[in-house]
Amino acid sequence: MRVAMLRQAGEVVIEEAPMLAPSAGEVLIEVAYAGVCGSDLHSFEGTHPFRQPPVVLGHEVAGTIAALGEGVTGLTVGQAVTVMPYTHCGVCAQCRLGRTNTCLNKVVPGLGGWQGTFAEYFVSRAEIVYPLDQIGLRRGVLAEPLAVGVHAARRGLVGPGTRALVLGGGTIGLFTALAAHLAGAESVALTDLSPHNLALARVLGADDVYDASDAGLVPRVRSDYLDGFDVVFLASAAKATVAQALALARRGGRIVIIALFAGAVPLVLSALTVNELDLVGTQIYTDEDFRTALSYLAAAPHAHDGVITHELPLEQAQEALALMLRRDEPVVKVLLRP
Ligand SMILES: [Zn+2]
Ligand SMILES: [Zn+2]
Repeated sequence: MRVAMLRQAGEVVIEEAPMLAPSAGEVLIEVAYAGVCGSDLHSFEGTHPFRQPPVVLGHEVAGTIAALGEGVTGLTVGQAVTVMPYTHCGVCAQCRLGRTNTCLNKVVPGLGGWQGTFAEYFVSRAEIVYPLDQIGLRRGVLAEPLAVGVHAARRGLVGPGTRALVLGGGTIGLFTALAAHLAGAESVALTDLSPHNLALARVLGADDVYDASDAGLVPRVRSDYLDGFDVVFLASAAKATVAQALALARRGGRIVIIALFAGAVPLVLSALTVNELDLVGTQIYTDEDFRTALSYLAAAPHAHDGVITHELPLEQAQEALALMLRRDEPVVKVLLRP
């Protein structure tokens, strides 16, 4: 079988690898679509803290079941599925609190000998395989990034009446806006540099969108939302967004950090004290978030299609990653097809 192997930073090579076989409790999936994620880019650039070459990247996947390992029930060969791409131990302190997403023994593709999804075949534990019966493969590959948005909205305590602002409209920012909208937010505003992404945000449920390059962004948004926002999501790792969030959250509001900021970021902590703000992080998703994402995809059949801007054969994995770095054309979600 073919895999796209990151040999060293900036170099992805298509290689022939031994065919995978599912062990007991595992499922072998023939990959139809593998989504390229921002974290794959960090590895490609050589800046990922622990996922280092040689490695087969990718964790977003939709495909059909090619074989079932011993003891797997409730799934059938030929079924369209996606995978919630991490395993948790079930016994550590975090798991016992129900916070499986921060499991102390979490394993993700590309680590612990678990080959990533940029390949013809992918193996997964059966308990994290989810049928895509009503959703289909192409849309189903979006479940993983949408689940990130669902969890972020939950961390932001979004519900009916919430006024939400999302700073950054890449895939995760767009899906956070969508999740906030579907969770019943009264209003959702979003900022981004790309007119393409701003237009897409409107399709996905944003009520107001703002050009992030506007030097007067904060007063402009403030003039539309005089009371400030109940919750502000940092979905871009641009350091300027931190001050924007502090300026635009209402007193007693909440700031949710989704983006992975590189290095230290200056933060005027007194703003948190004076305005009694909550500052929280968010880390991937739980099983409940993943199921919610799947239900959102099933409920709105075509709303999310615009998020997929590119489909490339697996052979062009190198080009797919380079394209996302260059951003010389509108790029949101890039899919690989083995
Ligand atoms: Zn992802
Ligand atoms: Zn655990």
